[in-house]
Amino acid sequence: MQTIDNYDFTGKRAIVRVDFNVPLNESFQITDDTRIRAAIPTLKKVLEKGGSLIIMSHLGRPKGPTDKFSLKHIIPAIEQKLGTKIKFAPDCMGAEAGELSATLRPGEVLLLENLRFYAEEEGKARGLAEDASDDQKKAAKAAVKESQKEFTKKLASYADCYINDAFGTAHRAHASTALIAKHFPNDKMFGYVMEGEIKAIDKVLKTPEHPVTAIIGGAKVSSKITIIEKLFDVCDNMIIGGGMVFTFVKAQGGKIGKSLCEDDQMELALSILEKAKAKGVKLYYSGEVVVADSFSNDANTQVCMDNNIPDGWLGMDAAPSTIKEWEEVLRNSKTVLWNGPVGVFEMAAFANGTNRIAEILADITSKGVFTLVGGGDSVAAVTQMGFANKVSYVSTGGGAMLEYLEGIELPGIAAIRE
Ligand code: AMP
Repeated sequence: MQTIDNYDFTGKRAIVRVDFNVPLNESFQITDDTRIRAAIPTLKKVLEKGGSLIIMSHLGRPKGPTDKFSLKHIIPAIEQKLGTKIKFAPDCMGAEAGELSATLRPGEVLLLENLRFYAEEEGKARGLAEDASDDQKKAAKAAVKESQKEFTKKLASYADCYINDAFGTAHRAHASTALIAKHFPNDKMFGYVMEGEIKAIDKVLKTPEHPVTAIIGGAKVSSKITIIEKLFDVCDNMIIGGGMVFTFVKAQGGKIGKSLCEDDQMELALSILEKAKAKGVKLYYSGEVVVADSFSNDANTQVCMDNNIPDGWLGMDAAPSTIKEWEEVLRNSKTVLWNGPVGVFEMAAFANGTNRIAEILADITSKGVFTLVGGGDSVAAVTQMGFANKVSYVSTGGGAMLEYLEGIELPGIAAIRE
């Protein structure tokens, strides 16, 4: 398989899809540059190996060209991190993009303007009237799909090879993330971010050292059900925390007060308990919780069993005794996957459980346990605690990681492997 390590970039122009969809404040300063930093090793490697770069990305969700979503705002940050000046094509389909890419010399870098200024990037029709008929919608979609072919072909025409390093959009079959690959049947590869993500998730899903423990937290059972069931195939233990616990507890007749609950998912929760039993997975989902008399940081709190919550109170965090029980399971594991907070960690009063999980994971990693953390909120927790470098791998993929864990073949991955 072609990789950036074994590919000869000498004199070649590489078009690289990165995920530079970084958060910007009102004065267009980057508030978190993780995604830019993540892509730098791939970009530098191409330059070191005698190639030149055409960098492409999306930023935000523009409906057309908008200054607010221009990638020009992040040029200084890219230049500073790459240690070189870069050229900018202010329209990814414009004449300048063609000219600048055609004259690019080894070691030079060209950044294309936000791909999503064109509807063709995502292949979704834009600007339809609200009362558009189904036929009109169908026709508009067909038209954009047709022009998407030309859009993709033009992007491909700028370069000699293609690198996909945008794991965050790998679950989307967009022009730059998947469709473009077919124009480079013998010259396409993953960047280091993609490689790292795939390797880390495969290490958990395909070749884990047992015992394997998954910690699945977050708000809703309904959004995690597929991943829970999929993980039963590899897990020895599963810890379920956060708001979704209460659907399980109520389904078994527990008193959960005003805690979050999806009444329509209770049957499903019971079937998950059955499936875990059938697969021999030990489930940890019940124990003492910190409850509050309102959903606020300065609510009154007490600790009680999650199946005996007083009327009017709601479960907000895992209690220290519960964390202690989980800690023992985690310390006896060889592989740990964590997705989703185990409490309302945005409020300091209810962040203890989630912070403790981050701490324990950092500690067991230093003792040789493979720990993979993924999903926006759990990543935020390990980062806030300063532990991002102390766990084995932090997946920045969000939706893409969840879909990969669910066993879905991601278009961005398939397009390179095909
Ligand atoms: P998710 O996006 O499904 O991973 O859910 C993350 C959200 O779950 C966070 O915003 C947490 O505040 C929320 N959450 C965690 N525990 C609870 C709880 N006990 N009650 C309500 N929300 C919770």
